[in-house]
Amino acid sequence: MPATRPVRPLLDVRKIYLEPEAAALPRGQEVLARWPDAERVEVASHWNIPELHGDEGNVDRWVRIKTEALVLGVKKSLTARPNGRSSDFVAPSTANGCAMACAYCYVPRRKGYSNPITVFANIDKISGYLARHVGRQGVKTEPNQCDPHAWVYDIGESSDCSVDATVSDNVRDLVELFRGLPTAKASFATKHVNRDLLDWDPQGRTRIRFSLMPDRMARLVDVRTSRIADRIAAIDDFVEAGYEVHLNFSPVIVEDGWLEQWAELLDQVEAGIGARAKAQLACEVIMLTHNDRLHEVNLGWHPKAEEVLWRPDLQQPKRSETGGLNVRYRTGQKGRYVTALTDLIAERLPSCRVRYAF
Ligand code: SF4
Repeated sequence: MPATRPVRPLLDVRKIYLEPEAAALPRGQEVLARWPDAERVEVASHWNIPELHGDEGNVDRWVRIKTEALVLGVKKSLTARPNGRSSDFVAPSTANGCAMACAYCYVPRRKGYSNPITVFANIDKISGYLARHVGRQGVKTEPNQCDPHAWVYDIGESSDCSVDATVSDNVRDLVELFRGLPTAKASFATKHVNRDLLDWDPQGRTRIRFSLMPDRMARLVDVRTSRIADRIAAIDDFVEAGYEVHLNFSPVIVEDGWLEQWAELLDQVEAGIGARAKAQLACEVIMLTHNDRLHEVNLGWHPKAEEVLWRPDLQQPKRSETGGLNVRYRTGQKGRYVTALTDLIAERLPSCRVRYAF
């Protein structure tokens, strides 16, 4: 049975937890002014708010918290981490947490499972750091799969930027920053279609990676996200508006008939986008990884999703750095899945270059 779709809006902010330092900054003031009637609760640190981050098994409460709570904080450590897969660097985040609730999502693992959006108010510091970091890289002389010419910075590793853009102007500020940085590009993956972004004039310096998976699977595991058909329908509009648009095929979840479902999805994309989008198209393919702790939590609220996410018959465990067990598809078999899917992409959506697949 598909996951229950939300009846509530993604955000209906009633309570804002704030670090006083963040509330004093202009961006903090702007966020507070967007929800003048929201209750304000001072907190010492956005990292430790027990009433938001505890209570792992109560999903009704999570969705309410994700909808009604917002956290305003200051990003303390500013570093751009080398990545090399979806981007050259992961930029310091301007938000973490998410209003959506995908069952496989790793974003909540650090802060607890409700994990509503925390927005960082020190955007000037983050932007300044990024501009200097880009300057220090100079011109990219060696093309790589991230991009042949530009240094690519993932600005949305810890959140979904399309939803963050409904909370503050942080994402817009970064899109505008990268517009003026000819040696670099911003990039983020998203599962939400926010058409406000179409007015931002990114001039090709921001790459949006629309996340796609077969609709049947998305209805089960992509909780509170935009429908797959809506994401596909947005691609041409975002290209037209000046974004580079790639596809993020992730996570790829194996079940009976999965390749037939992927063939159908690829056909939908092939039929649903125009020549201009195809001329610049590329994708990344990432097979599912899962985690024993997330599995335990999910059993409490979404056991149907665990029937496809937790497959000991297909997966092998590996102890993670944080102590839990991560699982992935078995060595050998996983390579065969990747080859089968990349072959299928070449056949059904030949305009789509595979940037990387693993
Ligand atoms: S949209 Fe992204 S960040 Fe949000 S819950 Fe889904 S996977 Fe996690």
